[in-house]
Amino acid sequence: MIRNSRARAGEVVARCKTLASYSEDAGSTRRTFLSPPMRNCHKAICEWLRAAGAEVALDAAGNLRGFYAAADSPAPRLLIGSHLDTVPNAGAYDGALGVMIAVALIEGLAGRRLPFGIEVVAFSEEEGVRFGTPFLGSRALIGKLDAELLNRQDANGISVLEAIKNFGLNPAAIPQAAITDDTLAYLEFHIEQGPVLESLGLPLGAVECIAAQTRMEFVFLGRANHAGTTPMHLRHDAIACAAEWIVAVESIAKSISGLVATVGQIAAKPGAINVIAGEACVTLDLRHKSEDTCARMANALIRLAEEIAERRGLTLRRRTLLCQRAVEMDPFLVAQCAEAIRKTGCQPHRMVSGAGHDAMILAEKVPAAMIFVRSPGGISHDPAESVEVEDVEKALECGLHLLDQLASCTEFQKRMYRE
Ligand SMILES: [Zn+2]
Repeated sequence: MIRNSRARAGEVVARCKTLASYSEDAGSTRRTFLSPPMRNCHKAICEWLRAAGAEVALDAAGNLRGFYAAADSPAPRLLIGSHLDTVPNAGAYDGALGVMIAVALIEGLAGRRLPFGIEVVAFSEEEGVRFGTPFLGSRALIGKLDAELLNRQDANGISVLEAIKNFGLNPAAIPQAAITDDTLAYLEFHIEQGPVLESLGLPLGAVECIAAQTRMEFVFLGRANHAGTTPMHLRHDAIACAAEWIVAVESIAKSISGLVATVGQIAAKPGAINVIAGEACVTLDLRHKSEDTCARMANALIRLAEEIAERRGLTLRRRTLLCQRAVEMDPFLVAQCAEAIRKTGCQPHRMVSGAGHDAMILAEKVPAAMIFVRSPGGISHDPAESVEVEDVEKALECGLHLLDQLASCTEFQKRMYRE
């Protein structure tokens, strides 16, 4: 058993690197839902969890669950976890760090038992890479891995249901993966995946809210024509029209505090050097902690696109691809996280997560909270993704303070899971 906190943090980082070596691709990390390298991850994590005194089981949705019992039984349980799947060409810490911190927190208790049990949850799927739908693992915990999701197919025509069977699991047992009513809360550590904590010089942040998100597609329809023979004042150029709107999107987003707006894709037709574009299709991704602001800005940007198109003699077609509500983290738990961060000697910065996380799904059923760990360079979803050992040490220290705070709070232990 490692006693020194710096050494334990070093071990967390080393374990993340070990997990990153279990990959579908040679030379880079890619680990999708129930892919063969998941078995190696499970085997390694199983050993670490058992050595720390936890019982381990794999649920029917492929989530690895380690249970560290309470001092007495029956007792409620606290869930701590994150996900094990990755994007292609991934880094070693997105998801895995949260799971390894959860394991290390149990190790840090060194056999000490709390008034509640701790269940470490290593989710099978969060990124949505294999089936184009994220959160398959956490949806099973809230009873929402339904028939529609189970019938989704991957690029090889294998359904979620078949993938579960192929891994040796029983889809009929998925309902038993749902959290039980003795579940107090869900807690997740995760790398920030952005540059905010680094810009503030802080190792940790308490997430207050997961941002609302709107995704749309806009098609500006003009008229394709000859680039040489059509005078400038007689054109209906779809790319120029889209460009005017894109620049306006950026400047409007900069003027609204906390709003992020991204035009990440543009495709023009017919797409030739000597032809005026007749059609330009662009995407919009809008995020803000307030879903009202998000919806209001989406409407404003739609009106703006219509105005610009009309003035230039073009028409507009649009559709909404995603409209996701903001998810508040539990205020009591957020305050407890902030207090635990303060006890490590750091200023407890409260922040909004611009990315979705498993905590967002669990929050539908139980109080949930997240703690972000600084991402050097703000880099994620890339092999250059990293974490500082000192920051992981702070995260572990913070986690143990948090467990002690919750263990001494009888009000918290009485809170029941939401129906
Ligand atoms: Zn993640």
